[in-house]
Amino acid sequence: MCPACKTDRIFSIEQHRQKLTMYFVPTVQYHSKQYMTCQGCNESFEIADQLKEEVAARLMTENELKTTMENMAIESLPLIPICQTCKQPVGPRMRFCPNCGNSLL
Ligand SMILES: [Zn+2]
Ligand SMILES: [Zn+2]
Repeated sequence: MCPACKTDRIFSIEQHRQKLTMYFVPTVQYHSKQYMTCQGCNESFEIADQLKEEVAARLMTENELKTTMENMAIESLPLIPICQTCKQPVGPRMRFCPNCGNSLL
């Protein structure tokens, strides 16, 4: 949930790495800051260390994100889809219009 707009949102995560000198074994986990940006209000927040694991567990691949966005779009679709050919309402997942038989894709 976004602390700024108080809604469940999809966040993009950025990791800012400090440049470490070569004398150190890279301990990226301890020297990196992660920021999440709310895709709703564009507000950015630093991710607290204790939250990093949870955030990492929730990371989605681009494909998963796409599917999630598509599902959200379908759920929030306020209008019944309409066949472009005969202007009759059709089911949201129909591929062909039951009225005129034209492709809905
Ligand atoms: Zn927000
Ligand atoms: Zn039709």
